[in-house]
Amino acid sequence: MNEPELRAVLSKTARQTVIQGLNQGASGNVSVRLRDGFLITPSGLPNDTLEPALMVFVDMEGQAGGSLKPSSEWRIHRDLYRARPEVAAVVHAHSPHAVSLSCLRRDIPAFHYMVAAAGGKDIRCAGYATFGTQALSDWVLAALQDRRACLMANHGLVAVGAGLDAALALAVEVEELCAQYWRAKLMGEPVLLSDAEMDEVLERFRHYGQRGAKQAGA
Ligand SMILES: [Zn+2]
Repeated sequence: MNEPELRAVLSKTARQTVIQGLNQGASGNVSVRLRDGFLITPSGLPNDTLEPALMVFVDMEGQAGGSLKPSSEWRIHRDLYRARPEVAAVVHAHSPHAVSLSCLRRDIPAFHYMVAAAGGKDIRCAGYATFGTQALSDWVLAALQDRRACLMANHGLVAVGAGLDAALALAVEVEELCAQYWRAKLMGEPVLLSDAEMDEVLERFRHYGQRGAKQAGA
């Protein structure tokens, strides 16, 4: 896709995060890789008012083009594009169940096989640091080691993908898993899948290729 197309898809994805219940107001942010940098949603503007022209280009040195400031979490996006060549889109959200679980600062274990949609046998919770800081970006990159999604302590979630559709679908999936895990914990201690059972799921997901989390679900 060329830049005008990416601007259009990115602003539409930001609106989708509100429609799908992942974000409210100006919370969260979305980006897509472009040339030697990325396009990201602007700082402080409500997601459901975003237009293609308001998307901000940021290069890998963190220099923003245009007059609008990029989202305060641009470092997380920049560092992911630098460290992970396969990542072409990043979705960050303050979705209700992910935020609630992130305040417990615990990883989500293999209570359901779809946990493997994030790339491993658990979904980690990144450590806490003030929003917008390099320290927070460092925590998130560590929690995303060999993973495509993580929680962020007392904050929210991050999901990455080879495209905006895949990253958004995974963010929706993780939010739903958080809701399911919370409900199961209300009733007792969930029985966890074994390492062998999760190995089989991960193998099956690999076999089905690099499609989005939703497509990988059965
Ligand atoms: Zn945030």
